[in-house]
Formats: sequence, structure tokens, C-alpha cells
Amino acid sequence: MLQRTEGIVLRTSTFGEADLIVTYLTSDHGIVKTFAKSPRKIKSRFGSSLEPLTCSRIAFWGKEDAALPRLTQSDIIHSFDAVRSSLHGFLRACEVIELILHLLPERDTSRNAYRLLMALLQSLEHECGNQLLILFYKIRLLKIAGYLPKIDGCGRCGGVGAAFYLSHGTVLCERCSAGSGGSFLLSYGAISLFTNLMEWTSSKIARIRPSERQLLELSRLIDEHVRQVTDRNPRTAAFRIL
Ligand SMILES: [Zn+2]
Repeated sequence: MLQRTEGIVLRTSTFGEADLIVTYLTSDHGIVKTFAKSPRKIKSRFGSSLEPLTCSRIAFWGKEDAALPRLTQSDIIHSFDAVRSSLHGFLRACEVIELILHLLPERDTSRNAYRLLMALLQSLEHECGNQLLILFYKIRLLKIAGYLPKIDGCGRCGGVGAAFYLSHGTVLCERCSAGSGGSFLLSYGAISLFTNLMEWTSSKIARIRPSERQLLELSRLIDEHVRQVTDRNPRTAAFRIL
């Protein structure tokens, strides 16, 4: 069965002498891994369309549940060259892509993650991406994937609390936290920054400059939470530029 959709290349890995496995985030089927025959040969019909972050109109062929359908067509819609050629912008994009690969199931038909990644790449094209913007996209992605931490109140009773428990993924009030160890104490500023990030649009984010301390505090919390839910250290963390 031939399927046509739009996809953004998340990553590629070599397969044999000249073939590639290309992992896309598609607009209709979520994450899809495809097999590309001989794209590394000169004059391949795929040209440069398999570069990471490239958005293309693609077609792939295989049974509906095939683990590795064959890529038959890939026509560039937008190459996002400017993002790929800026080290800073590229690493920012990779942080979010790594999250997508870890948090989203394959063949999820929700379009939200695709729209989110497209919006991030478009933002990165115009500016290399401040830390607030990346934090915003990470939080939005956690929401889409169903892993949004609960920060604005106790996750059990809704009461007031400022201690975030990594193992529970939520703030717990004093009464509900009895016996739970290991918490982060959050400042009022970090909690309110999180609440605002859930409400603001990306264009508003570009104009806001929160305090460095609140931004670092919330970024650290979100990174620890991601480490907890994915049970691994992000590979891009080693290259993070603040
Ligand atoms: Zn409580």
C-alpha cells in the first residue's frame, strides 16, 4: 500500500553499504521509520532531501503495519538549511527531536507534534532560539506526549505546595507528601513562569525576558523530569549551550 504524507527528517542511520533508515515525524502517521534504497549514491533521486530537519512531501510503500516501509519519493518542501547550518540552532532543534524520539510512540496519528516541530523550526530559522523558547517547546511536547509535570499545585489534592517530587512527576503538598523522599523546592517565580508558558503563544515568548534565575530553575526541573520519564540522559545535554 502506497502512503503519501509530509514528513520532517528526525534522524538517519546507515544500513548496509549504501542504504539508509530514515526516521520521520509525519503529519498523518506520527513517527515513521522508512528504508531508503541507495540514497548515498551519486545522482540518487532523493538528492539532499534526507538531511536531518528537512521537510518533504514523501511516499512510502509497504503493508500497513510494515515495520520498515520503503521510501519511494521525497520532494523538499522546506530544507531548513539556516537551522542546520547554525550550530546553536541545530543543537536546540536536536534537543527537542531527541525528546520526540523518546516520548512519542511510532505511528501515532495526532498531528499536534508535527505542527509543534514545524513551528519550532520556523522560529529557529528567524532567530537561533533563546532558552525560553526551547523550554516552551519542551513543555508543549511533554503535554502532547502525556508527560506534563504538575507544578501549579498538589497533584493529589490540588492544595498549595512548592515541593516537586521527581518520582511522582508532580508538586505535592505537605500532607500528601508524607513518606515521599527527594523533592525540588520551587520558587514562586519558577511556578508562575511555568503557568505563563502554558498560556503564552510562541510570538509572545519571543518578546519576554524572564529572570535568568527563574529560567535556569525551571529548565533544570524540566530536564530532570525528562530524565526521570525517559529513564536516560539526553545525548544532547553534553552539548547544551546556555
Ligand atoms: Zn495534597
